[in-house]
Amino acid sequence: MEYVTHAGESVPAVGLGTWQMETETAQDAVSTALDLGYRHIDTAQAYENERGVGRAIAASAVDRDEIFLTTKVHPSNRSVDAIVASTAESLERLGVDRVDLLLIHWPHPLADLETVMDGLNRARERGYTRHIGVSNFGRDRLDRARELSAAPIVTDQVLFHPWWPQRDLLRYCQTEDVLLTGYSPLANGGLVGNPRLAEIGRRYDKTSAQVAIRWATQHENVMTIPMSTTSAHLAENIDVFDFRLTREEHDRITNPSVLKAGIAMVRGQFGL
Ligand code: NAP
Repeated sequence: MEYVTHAGESVPAVGLGTWQMETETAQDAVSTALDLGYRHIDTAQAYENERGVGRAIAASAVDRDEIFLTTKVHPSNRSVDAIVASTAESLERLGVDRVDLLLIHWPHPLADLETVMDGLNRARERGYTRHIGVSNFGRDRLDRARELSAAPIVTDQVLFHPWWPQRDLLRYCQTEDVLLTGYSPLANGGLVGNPRLAEIGRRYDKTSAQVAIRWATQHENVMTIPMSTTSAHLAENIDVFDFRLTREEHDRITNPSVLKAGIAMVRGQFGL
C-alpha cells in the first residue's frame, strides 16, 4: 500500500467505497476488504449502510485505530445543530466514538456555506471526527470553504478518473496541500475492459481496473476509493503498487471526455 500524507497523517491511497451497497452487502464487503488489507473505508449518511460498515469493523480483528473511516453528512442538514446531531447519529450507526474524516456530501443550493463549515467544525470540536473536508466542491467553492473553516479542509472528494481528470481542481489541491479523494475511479464500471487500459495492463500483467486505479494513485496528493462487492475485484483493486505507469502510458490513458464521463455517471445513478 502507498499512502498520501497531510499534516503528518498518512492515509492509505486506496480505500473502499460503499455507494450502492445495502447494509448487509456493505457488511460483507467491508469484512472481506479488511481481511484483504484495506484500512480506509468510505461511507455516507446518504448510502444508508453505516450500520453494515460499523458491524464489519466491530467484528474485525483489525484495530479500530488502524482504519481510516470516512462518513459524509447529508446536505439536507443545513444548520450547525442538524450537522452535529446527524453526525452523532452516524457514530451511533457506525458503532464508533468518532470517525477519522467527516465531509459535507455535496453543496446544497439553499445552504449557507459559512454555517455548514461551522457545523463541521463544531462536530470536530465535540470529538466526533478527527478531520473535516468537503465533497463535490469546485475550486472556487473549496477555496471559500477553506477561508471559512477554522480547521483545515483535509480533502475534497470528487469524481476523478481518466475521462474526468479534474486538472484545474487537482492543480489547486497540489499547490494548496489539500488531498483530492477521487471517487468512481472506474467510472462506475465504465472503464472496466477499456481496450486502451487493457492493452497497457497486459504489459504488467494487470487488468484494466488495476491500470485505472494505478493511474489515479500516481497523481500527487490523490487517494482513491473504488467500490466492489466481489472478493476477487476487492483483492485486485489494492494489488496495484508493484508496477508504475510510464509518463507516456499515463498521458495516453488520460483522455478527457465529457460525453463518456456523463454516460458513465448516468449508468451509475441508475445502476445500468
Ligand atoms: P467505481 O469504483 O468507479 O466502480 C464500481 C463498479 O466497478 C462496480 O460495478 C464494480 O462491480 C466494478 N468493479 C470494481 N472493481 C472491479 C474490478 N477489479 N474488475 C471489474 N469490475 C470492477 O464506482 P463508484 O461506486 O461510483 O465509486 C466508488 C466510490 O466512490 C463509491 O462507492 C463511493 O464511496 C464514492 N462516491 C462518492 C460520491 C460523492 O458524491 N462523494 C459519488 C460517487 C461515488 P463489482 O461489485 O462486481 O466489483
